[in-house]
Parts: sequence; C-alpha cells; structure tokens
Amino acid sequence: MILEQIDKELLAMAEESDSVLKDIYQNIDDICLHNSNRVLSAFIENQVSYSDFADINGYGNYDEGRDKIEKIFASVLGCEDALVRPQIMSGTNAIYLTLSALLKHGDTMISISGAPYDSLQEMIGIIGESTQSLKAYGVKYEQIDLVNDDFDDDKIIERLKQGNVKLIEIQRSRGYSHRLSLTIAKLERIIKKIKEVAPEVIIMVDNCYGELVEKLEPGHIGADVVVGSLMKNLGGGIASTGGYVAGNADLIHMVAERLTAPGIGKDLGANFNLNNSFFKGIFMAPSAVKSALKTAVFTAYMLEKLGYKNVSPAYNEERTDIIQTLELGTKENLVNFTQGIQATSPIDSFVRVLPAPMPGYPFDEVMAAGSFTQGSTIELSADAPVVEPYTLYMQGGLSLEYGKLSILLALTNMNK
Ligand SMILES: *Cc1c(COP(=O)(O)O)cnc(C)c1O
Repeated sequence: MILEQIDKELLAMAEESDSVLKDIYQNIDDICLHNSNRVLSAFIENQVSYSDFADINGYGNYDEGRDKIEKIFASVLGCEDALVRPQIMSGTNAIYLTLSALLKHGDTMISISGAPYDSLQEMIGIIGESTQSLKAYGVKYEQIDLVNDDFDDDKIIERLKQGNVKLIEIQRSRGYSHRLSLTIAKLERIIKKIKEVAPEVIIMVDNCYGELVEKLEPGHIGADVVVGSLMKNLGGGIASTGGYVAGNADLIHMVAERLTAPGIGKDLGANFNLNNSFFKGIFMAPSAVKSALKTAVFTAYMLEKLGYKNVSPAYNEERTDIIQTLELGTKENLVNFTQGIQATSPIDSFVRVLPAPMPGYPFDEVMAAGSFTQGSTIELSADAPVVEPYTLYMQGGLSLEYGKLSILLALTNMNK
C-alpha cells in the first residue's frame, strides 16, 4: 500500500497544506465552474444525442457526431469553427498542418515568444535539413525574443510596420524553457496592438497545456487560429488520440483542405468510433485541468516548504498552463523523484526509470509516464534532461488524491 510507505512528516505537511492552499484551490474551482458552464452549454446548444456516437467508417461522410464535436470545440475555444480529428495525431502535427496550410512560398512567419517548442524547430527549418520543412518550401522565419518573460511590444510593432508579415506565432506555454508561461492578459495586450497596426496578419497561438486554465481562451481575445493536442488538456484524459485546430472559419477551411484535399475540406474523415471519447473528453476536460492544476499547486507548495528554490510557478503564483518545473539540484534527486512518480502510476508502475538517451535530444532523459494513453500528459507525468540544474518538468494528474499519493511517495523516495 502506498500510504504506508509515505514518510510521516511529509504526510503531516500534506494535511496542513489543505488549509494553506484553500483560497488557491477555491480560485481553481471557480475557473472550473466557469469553464464547465461553457462546455455544458455547448453540448446543449448543439443537441448532442446518443446517435452521435455512431461508428461511421470508410470515407466518413455525413458524420453528424464529428460535426457537433467540432462545433463544441469552436464554442469552448471562443472561435468560429474547428477541426478535431484522430487524423491530427499530435500537437506538433496540428501545428505543422496549420502552418503548411496558411503559409505559401515567399511568406514570412514571426515567432514573437522566442524560440518555439523543440518539436517545431525542424518543422520550421530552424535546424535540420528536411526537404519537408517550411523553409524548404520557401517560407521565411523570424524570431523576436521575450524580454523579462513578456512580449517585446516595441520591437514587434516596429517590425510589423515594415510590412511583409503573413503570420505571427505565439507559444503560450513555456515548453522546455525556463521562462514563465504567457498569461491571457499578456496575450490580449499584444494581440490588440498587433491588430491596430497590422489587422491582416494571422495570429496563431500554440495553445498546448493552456486550455481551460483561465476563464478566457486566446480565441476570446482575438487570436485567429489556435492549436493543440488531445493527449493534453482538451482530451480530458479520455480521448485516446487526436489534435485540434480552431479559429476563423476561412482559416479552418484552408486547414481542412490541406488535411483532406481542396474541394473536400471538413466533409471527409472517419473517426474510428472515437466520437464518444472525444465528447466525453471535452466534457471532463474542465475537471481534469482543475485536478492537474491542484496537483501542480500541491507539488510546488511541498517542494517550497522543503526548501527547494526555483519552483516555478511558485505555489501561489498566477498560472496559465498546467506545467510545473522543479529544480531538484542533483542527479540522484531527479532520478529518485521521477522513479517515485513512475512507481505510483496506474500503468507500468513496475518499470524502473533510468536516464537514457532519446532521439533528438542532446542529453540523457528521465521520463515517468504510466498513463492509460501513450504519452498522455494530462495524466500525471514528468520528464527532464539529466543535466544541471536538474530541472524536472511535471504536468497532469486526473485527480488531486492520486496526485498527492504520487508526489508524497516521490518525495519520500527522494529524501530517503
Ligand atoms: C506538447 C507541446 C507541443 C507538441 O505537442 P505534441 O502533442 O507533443 O506533438 C507543442 N507546443 C507546446 C507548447 C507543447 O507543450
């Protein structure tokens, strides 16, 4: 039994935490209620029915369930339309699909949140020699770095005034960098300024890990297209694959035509009997995100109490995604903590985590991922490059109770 293995002092600290964290948990509950209202209202508005779960195979023509899923996603994300498909196989695939559809030879895209997420680098052509990168297709890439974890407004506006920009990419979540994630308030400020000087520029937000963490989504504050994975927040821990692109109807039409073919667009594509789990996934997503956030807050609190520095976000800091980074200081701590998370996973608990090389990564990696869906990170998971200062990236957790058991066992493992 797990509880019996947990250090008694840690258990006492965990019990104390509930009263200290009460107001923070309450705020997370408020956001969950707000977002649940939006999700449930979208189900009712779209008259979801048992018959929408029908398994349509082959070409997937006339799948009303699929159409309703896409209307619900659009509505929840504050957008006109959406594409939610098992044929979009990950967040990276969704981003590549979107950029490929919206950018043509000679166009320029600018990342205004610094270097994009690792898996985008080769796709854009920042690194590597792929013949399929955007660069190989004649798309130009520019980057404007963040200043003090916020947008460099002046530089961005100055660049836009020079013209010849097709698309701006904003990554809301920190990814594997040491910056803070970008809140909706910061996004709203910069998007407003961009629209004033360059209303024709397409604003795309990589929304991975940010969905339903705040009351508003990028679509509510002017983003033209937003992209994410169903192995993260909006899959609710239930969708077993898939990705989404949501945004202005004309842009979604272009992305759909890129996915299927010009003239076909959204009309085709079998959902392989996944409609039920896509519906149920977004239905449960506000609550899954709530649990992931509380697990992150709890973890941050425990580590700060134990004297660890550079816990980010701090337990009482504002959040806009579900990522928690923990600087564990030594290789031994990192490995022991990660092993503790793996050992308390419902799946593959018996697997012993060891540092190992990973294709595409410069350092050995440790990874704890005992999830029902392979690679799912709305389920409790953690990974890190094994390099100083031994920072672990942790996210997910489908219930606070399971999260507490895992974190307390991991801490026990680390301190022994
Ligand atoms: C996870 C993630 C991606 C890529 O999504 P995958 O589903 O892992 O391909 C892109 N951007 C950010 C910020 C992410 O967190």
